[in-house]
Amino acid sequence: MQLKESIYFHSPIFIQNILTTIYGRVLYQERYGAAYHARFEELKRKERQLIDPEQEQLSRLNQFLLFCQTYSPYYKELFETNRIELPLAQLSELKQIPLLDKETLRTRNAEVHATIDAPILGKTGGTTGKSIQVHYTKEDMQIRMAHLDYFKWTHGIEQGMRRASFTGQHLASEHQRSPVYWRTNKAINQMLFSIKNISPRTIPAYIEQLNRFNPVSMDGLPSGMIEVARYAKKHGIVCTFRPKAIFPTAEMMTRDERSLVEEVFHAPIFDQYASSEGAPIVAECPYGKKHLHYEMGIIEVETDGQILVTSFDTHGTPLVRYRVGDRMTLSHETCRCGHGGPIIASIDGRGRSYIQLKNGHRIFEGELAGIVRAFPNCIERVQYIQENTEEVVLLYVPDDRCFKIEHEKQLYFVLKRLFDGQMDVLLKSVPEIPKEISGKTLLIKQLIPENERAN
Ligand SMILES: [Zn+2]
Repeated sequence: MQLKESIYFHSPIFIQNILTTIYGRVLYQERYGAAYHARFEELKRKERQLIDPEQEQLSRLNQFLLFCQTYSPYYKELFETNRIELPLAQLSELKQIPLLDKETLRTRNAEVHATIDAPILGKTGGTTGKSIQVHYTKEDMQIRMAHLDYFKWTHGIEQGMRRASFTGQHLASEHQRSPVYWRTNKAINQMLFSIKNISPRTIPAYIEQLNRFNPVSMDGLPSGMIEVARYAKKHGIVCTFRPKAIFPTAEMMTRDERSLVEEVFHAPIFDQYASSEGAPIVAECPYGKKHLHYEMGIIEVETDGQILVTSFDTHGTPLVRYRVGDRMTLSHETCRCGHGGPIIASIDGRGRSYIQLKNGHRIFEGELAGIVRAFPNCIERVQYIQENTEEVVLLYVPDDRCFKIEHEKQLYFVLKRLFDGQMDVLLKSVPEIPKEISGKTLLIKQLIPENERAN
């Protein structure tokens, strides 16, 4: 990866575009194979059929549990100890299986893994600051992509249509002089816009490029979209592009931010919950209701609002009743769109705190949570604390069995880069992260009073 990065950053921009497309083709083949097409067609076909979602969930659940029992040493033992008889006769019997918490998934990671080939690495952790590596099969990933594409398809977006994506990746090298902060992935007709370079100085160039590209859909990190939209509105810059739909990922938007982006970019926003990898997808339909894609799994809500996910397409690291760390409220409404299965009233887990840099840039939860993912299983938990504009304190709980001194150095280096060299970073190893009065453990403690933060 590092070699690939160094070749990329030492190449001229037109070569970087070619490399982006080549990488795009590799991903394309991995993501859009037979399993993708089969599921995508199935979802479209089902729009015209009368189905019983619970019956379908039960049969998929039984298949999945049987797989877990056969291929995962952890579940084999768990089912034996708790005398779980398969197949289950009804969905409510799922409750007989003890839940899986993060601590267990982290410490017994190898036993939970199924003994099959699952080459794709992902992470789970939600927004609680813990990060645990999970494995997927190629088919798992394809099914996930099919559901995401189906969600977009219900809003009139098909693959191959011009797509603008706001990404947290570095696309431009530090030494690049020309103001070109986007790259093209021709494999799927996508233009990637790096949010790393968004600033008042560069935003006009971003808008010009979006106008030229004229995307049919937009997706990616909403913090970038919000910054561009806010600037355009403040300075009266007109966005002439006319997307059909906008699909933000990973972070939550406030109602005001959502309407700002919709107004400035002239398109409706449709939200999805797919950020905690491993969780089944919840996505908004044209009527604005959040539907669980019940073909992907089951979401149970505990009395305190925490969710337990059972995810049928996690064959590498099977997740059964996994407490992912997010919260939801279920709804008893039905919806005119005709999608079967549960409706979610609200998704409450994803916070919107951030670290504020001196130049006014904000680093949001999604990116900060991503950092520890580079250190799977050797850091138990982290917390970022910002008390002033000079310094960020990172508390981390190392797993003494595998944490090495060079991990701390790497962590320091990655954080310096994330904060653009603008912040001092102080790392503190602690036995545990202190809890808030509410009982929650926060990923980010932003202690600068709101009215003193730069805008
Ligand atoms: Zn609906």
